[in-house]
Amino acid sequence: MTDLQRDVLTGFESRFNRRPAGLWSAPGRVNLIGEHTDYNEGFVFPFAIDRRTVIALGLRDDRLIRVASSFAEEAIELCLEELFPENLSGWSAYPLGVAWALGQFGANLGELKGFEVFIDSEVPIGAGLSSSAAIESAVAVALNDVWRLNLDHRTLARVGQLAENRAVGAPTGIMDQSASLLGRADAGVFLDCRSLESEVIPLGFDAAGLELLIIDTKVSHSHATGGYAARRASCEAGAGALGVDSLRDLDIDDLPRAAEVLGDETFRRVRHVVTENRRVLDTVRTLREQGPTAIGALLDASHTSMRDDFEISVPELDLAVETARLAGAIGARMTGGGFGGAAIALTPHALVPAVTAAVMAAFDARGFATPDIFVVHAADGAGREQ
Ligand code: ADP
Ligand code: MG
Repeated sequence: MTDLQRDVLTGFESRFNRRPAGLWSAPGRVNLIGEHTDYNEGFVFPFAIDRRTVIALGLRDDRLIRVASSFAEEAIELCLEELFPENLSGWSAYPLGVAWALGQFGANLGELKGFEVFIDSEVPIGAGLSSSAAIESAVAVALNDVWRLNLDHRTLARVGQLAENRAVGAPTGIMDQSASLLGRADAGVFLDCRSLESEVIPLGFDAAGLELLIIDTKVSHSHATGGYAARRASCEAGAGALGVDSLRDLDIDDLPRAAEVLGDETFRRVRHVVTENRRVLDTVRTLREQGPTAIGALLDASHTSMRDDFEISVPELDLAVETARLAGAIGARMTGGGFGGAAIALTPHALVPAVTAAVMAAFDARGFATPDIFVVHAADGAGREQ
């Protein structure tokens, strides 16, 4: 048993005075490329990381739900009858939102038994590594098992998204949950967010002597408010003005026309999404044809597009990316929704210490908070542990 598994088991037993039915876990994710393309029905290419949220869960004999987390002293209690998005708030909206959303996908909440759950996590929160999808996916696979729902992992991804959209109120796409549920060791999840078809693509970082460094700037973001929703609205406005259902329907060839029809800001938002979709496809093709050492320029171009066209970077992210490249990373970009969070730097194994030291020194010199820098590996998606 890992330390985290043991902590979760002890946490469950001390709060609820009994043994759980089992332990389940789900990973955070990092997006290799394809940012703000998911809700535009485009392409994304994330992978599940080797940092997980672990939960212990057991059914009750009655219809009460009790959720507890290493986050909070008190357990939150609710009856299945009271399980509506309007009644949910705070951190418990993630696990309770999933229970509610399962009802929207066929679970008969009018008859099912309540449960107790304890949650702990090693996914950093608000770093753009999707601690939210990790908690949703872990709860989704656990309830799918104990409630015997037989939903597949693709459907559970939609359950998690619905919970996040309706119970938490964050208008996010389906990428995070898909990565957390469908991820595989040493591979990325290439996802078409329109058809929801996905393909597991080997990354081959290890064999090529590459490491993926996460540089968590510690600048916090919130998806439920502000810039994320504004960007989403710009994309909808751009698609509407151009007469398409979503920006997925546009290609690079359509950009000259878009430049004529749209105002400058909306045009740049649209150009980011259109070119980013192309970069995702190019990344998958390049990985297949040439291997991971050839994708650096695509990561770099993605960052430039987010900084200049989509305007979701912050000085800390720009500094992390520029410094990592100068110190030897073969490609780097901010990752996640933006306005803070983390950057990634694809770095030759031997240069990891040099890149880490250079970024630390650069942040120090600029007076920025000390970043958290660590390597992640592509890991398996959500499932039962014990
Ligand atoms: P991100 O997904 O990038 O980490 P979000 O703002 O989407 O950031 O989700 C973070 C929120 O998810 C936290 O504020 C908290 O409400 C919830 N959360 C994440 N991990 C846990 C946990 N271990 N226990 C309870 N709540 C958690
Ligand atoms: Mg999140």
